[in-house]
Amino acid sequence: MNYQGVLTKMQTENGSPIQYYLVFENDFLHVNQLLDKKISINFLRYQCLNCNLQKKVYRQGFCYDCFFDSPQTAAWIISPELSKAHLGIEDRDLEYEKRIQLRPHVVYLANSSNIKVGVTRKTQLPTRWIDQGAHEAIEIVEVPNRYLAGIVEMALKNHISDKTNWRMMLKNDLKDEDLVDWRNNLKQFIPEEASEYFLENNLETHLEFPVLRYPTVPKPLNLVKTPFYEGVLKGIKGQYLLFEDNTVFNVRANEGCVVSITVN
Ligand SMILES: [Zn+2]
Repeated sequence: MNYQGVLTKMQTENGSPIQYYLVFENDFLHVNQLLDKKISINFLRYQCLNCNLQKKVYRQGFCYDCFFDSPQTAAWIISPELSKAHLGIEDRDLEYEKRIQLRPHVVYLANSSNIKVGVTRKTQLPTRWIDQGAHEAIEIVEVPNRYLAGIVEMALKNHISDKTNWRMMLKNDLKDEDLVDWRNNLKQFIPEEASEYFLENNLETHLEFPVLRYPTVPKPLNLVKTPFYEGVLKGIKGQYLLFEDNTVFNVRANEGCVVSITVN
């Protein structure tokens, strides 16, 4: 079977285990069904996710021009504390910014290799946690806009990491943590403006990834440098495909690559 199309991050459905889908324009692949099968990935060309032109991808699946132009890749996406729609101030496109920023956001703790703090729109849970490869996570506050979530995250960053160690996450080098305890200890550092939004009753969410075998020394596949790869799929975690020979393929980091995938 052969599938072809532009890569976008895998769609997921929470379950035991999580279900993963690669969605192409006219077709989709239920990736869980490829476990223990030999698949090949062939890089064909670039296609910008925004303008659809065959231009080199710069970041996040966007070409250089789109990355610096589109409201979807503005700085407030990565740095929520820069959000200004709640003040009516435009960055790149005020209507878009209002639509995304002025909605319920959650600040959470997710444990993928270590505990990290993060921000997401409420509707993106648990998708965001799955994409990060977190095996457990918990909400800390739910606030009415992105700016407030950003300032809570900034304050908590002084006391907890905001980074994931992806190698440890892929090797499943984990420590179980009591996230309820962590949340309660971090409460004192939530800025005054957001303190009324603290969530005191939520419990940990646990996520189960479809993995038969974890890589011992993960070797990232760079599809542009190595345009053809073939291997036996042994697992899916976060947005990574994990292969028998320790190769790991970050689907999200390859958004905007047009590929042909063959299942043997
Ligand atoms: Zn473009």
